Amino acid sequence: MPPTYHGSCHCGAVRFEVTGEITDIATCDCSLCRKKNALMGKVPEAQLRLLTDWSELGLYEWNKRVAKHYFCKTCGIYTFHRKRAQPDWFSFNIHCLDDFDPANMTVRAASGKDMTVEAPDPRPEWPGPRVTPPQPESGRAMSYRLNPPATVGMSSALKP
Ligand SMILES: [Zn+2]
Repeated sequence: MPPTYHGSCHCGAVRFEVTGEITDIATCDCSLCRKKNALMGKVPEAQLRLLTDWSELGLYEWNKRVAKHYFCKTCGIYTFHRKRAQPDWFSFNIHCLDDFDPANMTVRAASGKDMTVEAPDPRPEWPGPRVTPPQPESGRAMSYRLNPPATVGMSSALKP
């Protein structure tokens, strides 16, 4: 029987469960993770279950808008996100787990600042090699911004 860990934000409006052994804990030096000071575990999407309503979560998207960065709308705490490199995986805030102690685990330093910046209007503060997004043809103006790459559907366990 794989272990189940219980996660929550600070105010308790968002609660989730993670099942399975947590073997990989990482920091990331991308511009977003640095500001979140995030320490993260990761699991395939089927191993993370939201126990509260999706409406409690805010969503932040930037750059390619593939990753989905969720946070509690009430207390602002980062809870988990869909990964850009693996959109069918969730990374989660290891410090949101109320019954898991990462103190003795090795922490991997992921290199996020080397990932490409492909937003049409990147902030100069975002490190990373610049990639110019495809220019919209006339008549399809703004299609890049209005039609971000298709996202992986929610697993059945995650459907509201
Ligand atoms: Zn909260």
